[in-house]
Amino acid sequence: MELLYEGKAKKVYSTDTENVLRIEYKNDATAFNGVKKDNIEGKGILNNLFSSFFFEMLAGKGIKSHFIKKISQTEQLVQSVTIIPLEVIVRNVAAGTLAKRIGKEEGYLMRRPIIELCYKNDALGDPMLNDDHIEVLDIATQFELQEIKAKALEINEVLIAYFKNFNIDLIDFKLEFGKTADGKILLADEISPDTCRLWDATTKQKFDKDVFRRDIAPLRETYQALADKLGIS
Ligand code: UDP
Repeated sequence: MELLYEGKAKKVYSTDTENVLRIEYKNDATAFNGVKKDNIEGKGILNNLFSSFFFEMLAGKGIKSHFIKKISQTEQLVQSVTIIPLEVIVRNVAAGTLAKRIGKEEGYLMRRPIIELCYKNDALGDPMLNDDHIEVLDIATQFELQEIKAKALEINEVLIAYFKNFNIDLIDFKLEFGKTADGKILLADEISPDTCRLWDATTKQKFDKDVFRRDIAPLRETYQALADKLGIS
């Protein structure tokens, strides 16, 4: 089947079925907008595992996504959507770029979750946008944006509660949403340790891509340890 798109972590193929795409999770790891790169055996399998698991868990809580089913170790079928070019970042604790921007230590707990919206545009370096920019650039209507934010906060609550069972804190994460042909907004892209920050609540050990970004520990072993902790296989 035809390769429609190749991103940094996934390939998207057409299928015989209308409005159904096949996603292949790659072993490539990138950070800092592609400046740091590696190919890590087993990463695609792990992220397909995590992402399929989280999409299924959210579906069980009534939160729909583009996910249809996992069809192999590295592949899943998804509903075709037009991706809204926004990185919807939900943050519970300041880390990464936010900690730098507001001059707080990483680990600063915020009074409530906050949402940041970034323009999904590698050439521009994914700049942060406000609601006005998003409306005027016709990226999403105000109404759609409210729906996206509400869903993002709902997903945050579900994921926080889930990880709490394993003594893991959900620090922050990035979501992407897409639009179906009939205009419905669906959660899309992926949910994995590539797109979340996850810290052991007691030791603050990192179980996410920061181990790769900051050369803290090997990525595959870290993701495998997380899968083992969560009992996902
Ligand atoms: N994130 C992501 N893709 C991006 C940018 C951020 O998945 O292109 C995730 C990142 O893993 C983290 C959260 O969004 O969980 C917040 O990221 P931040 O803005 O701190 O940027 P970072 O320092 O991680 O690049």
